[in-house]
Amino acid sequence: MPTGSSGKKWKNSWPSVVGWGFPSVGNKQPTGRPAIQLNVKTILNRIQHFAGFVYREIRFRGRGSSLRIEIHVEPHAAMAAKCADCQKPAPGYDRLAERSWRFVPLWGIPTHFHYLPRRVDCPEHGIGVEHIPWSAGKRPVTLAMMVFLARWARRLSWRETARTFQTSWESVYRSVDWFVQWGLAHRTLEQVKAIGIDEIHWGKGLRSENFLTVIYQIDRHCRRLLWVGPRRTQAALRCGLAALGPEVVRGLRFVCSDMWQPYLRVIATHAAHALHILDRFHISSHLNQAVDQVRRAECSRLRGRPQAAKLKRMRWKLLRRGSRVRGHAKRKLWGLLHTKLATGRAWMLKETFDHFWSYRSVSWAATFLDVWCERALRSRIEPMRKIARMLRSHEQLILNWFRAKGEISNGPVEGLNNKIRVVTRRSYGFRTYHAMETALYHNLGRLPEPESTHRFC
Ligand SMILES: [Zn+2]
Repeated sequence: MPTGSSGKKWKNSWPSVVGWGFPSVGNKQPTGRPAIQLNVKTILNRIQHFAGFVYREIRFRGRGSSLRIEIHVEPHAAMAAKCADCQKPAPGYDRLAERSWRFVPLWGIPTHFHYLPRRVDCPEHGIGVEHIPWSAGKRPVTLAMMVFLARWARRLSWRETARTFQTSWESVYRSVDWFVQWGLAHRTLEQVKAIGIDEIHWGKGLRSENFLTVIYQIDRHCRRLLWVGPRRTQAALRCGLAALGPEVVRGLRFVCSDMWQPYLRVIATHAAHALHILDRFHISSHLNQAVDQVRRAECSRLRGRPQAAKLKRMRWKLLRRGSRVRGHAKRKLWGLLHTKLATGRAWMLKETFDHFWSYRSVSWAATFLDVWCERALRSRIEPMRKIARMLRSHEQLILNWFRAKGEISNGPVEGLNNKIRVVTRRSYGFRTYHAMETALYHNLGRLPEPESTHRFC
């Protein structure tokens, strides 16, 4: 070994250390068995191996901002191509032009698979393109990338996912759509005993297209979105129950819903064997809406008068449960109650109704309901009288809450309802119904996921 300048020495010793992946520091020579050089092909073979195919070549293309990684795939010389329909080996026919598929970016560099698909002559299915295990139909994205994008799209918004991984919003949307369709096709609907039926508002306006009908499973062991469909009509709910299948409907023990008349009719005819409950969450929200209506009417009536100050910035304080209002807000609320304004009286009625849910006996609860409705009807506050009439006409369904003996809690319906609102707001920019439906199933459906050899997130 020449011992001239240190630069020369370094140059000469370079080949002996290159196998280690990096040059040794100082004069220290590495000892022991040399490790196998780790290159991208090794990683791919470990995490993304496809039987019948080999990674031939991996190279950089372009430079600067257009830098990309190309992964060239070749068929295994000793293995026949498979028919896409039956996945059985079939004799080759010819080869098509090269196609490319977007793969998960490696170190942030856009990465593509390149491959020339073969056509096979299957004795059963005729001539067709072979089965390509990383591809789904004509999509220009690998399955691994679709799973990758779909998983991130649950943590980030679709727009953020697209930006982070250098792809388009469309591409994220299609990946999530594929992921959801796969999940819906592979989910099982066993052990569905309790369902909640709800109407959700989305978008602007109050036209019938701005509502959705949703069906949740609200069993203790599994809470998820089962079905979502446009509008809130009888036909919409019938369509939803049909989508679940007759077996699921037959197995139902509890159905929770709002007092929305079209739903009540469908449940009475199609799921009469299940105990139908008008649940606490919906009744509470009706009461809250009534209080808010009274406040708004009174605000506009008192505009300009000193009493109006009492109602200023009271909306959220009035909608909260009394025991949750503290400090300054509480003093303000008490001030309002002393004034004998209709809003205060409506709030008191709403607050006393909360006691209803603490009963255990059906007959005591019925008595309470009767007395409460009597008081509300005499209150001369029209929104509260309307609520009382509504509660009276659905008394039996409301009392079913107590007949279910605590098997149905308030939590799941409310929780799922809130989550749906988060998703519909986030996806409001989509404007298309299908995109929002996909987002709802993706976030709340608890759908099974396609197996992938490696989880990138
Ligand atoms: Zn075939």
